Amino acid sequence: MDQKVQDVIADLKAYLEYLKGMGIEGLPAAEEKAENMISSEVPSLEEIRRELGDCKRCKLHRTRSTIVFGEGKEKARLMLIGEGPGYDEDVQGRPFVGRAGQLLTKILQSIGLQREEVYIANLIKCRPPQNRNPEPDEIQSCYPFLMKQIKAIQPRIICALGSFAAHTLLQTDAKITSLRGRIFDLAGIQVFPTYHPAFLLRNPERKREVWEDMKRIAEEMAKEDDRSQPVGDKRR
Ligand code: URA
Repeated sequence: MDQKVQDVIADLKAYLEYLKGMGIEGLPAAEEKAENMISSEVPSLEEIRRELGDCKRCKLHRTRSTIVFGEGKEKARLMLIGEGPGYDEDVQGRPFVGRAGQLLTKILQSIGLQREEVYIANLIKCRPPQNRNPEPDEIQSCYPFLMKQIKAIQPRIICALGSFAAHTLLQTDAKITSLRGRIFDLAGIQVFPTYHPAFLLRNPERKREVWEDMKRIAEEMAKEDDRSQPVGDKRR
């Protein structure tokens, strides 16, 4: 069997275990999708968006205004994954455009990156009512699409913003305080969990830790640049 297919099956198995741990036993929707995920052909973001359609796979479609698919560079080296759209995102159909988003833009700029150079998405694509936490069935419905986005973009680094993104991607329930500052591996992609910008708006004294995490991301990206330079042409 193709290595890629084996990796996808291993990912799915681990995710099903994780969901089981959260008390979800039956997964008709996820099982249905598994077949598509196992395909070794990687669809483009446009194709994934088309497949998502006017999504009604979970109850959030009843209260959302707009699906917030994600935006940015198709082959970005850095992908940032937040929790889910808030009020402003729901109105505009774009991720991280409210106050937390403005802070995220500044955080990116602090390491010399513009939003257009990265890809920004969320764990769930529809706003939960009153911005409540995403529920397991909602995460479950969106997860296959997020995985496909990751496969299409093939980022070198993912920054998981906040507990929900970190817990789902890393299949752990460890506290974000113990996850941040560390680098995890997700099928060859480096995952950096850090605090969510909305948390920073409420706890500005924690910005320093995010700054440390972002500096490490910048360092890893620079190492990657260095590796891709031809031998004898290394900039110092
Ligand atoms: N918070 C998120 O997690 N995502 C957004 O897009 C906006 C706020």
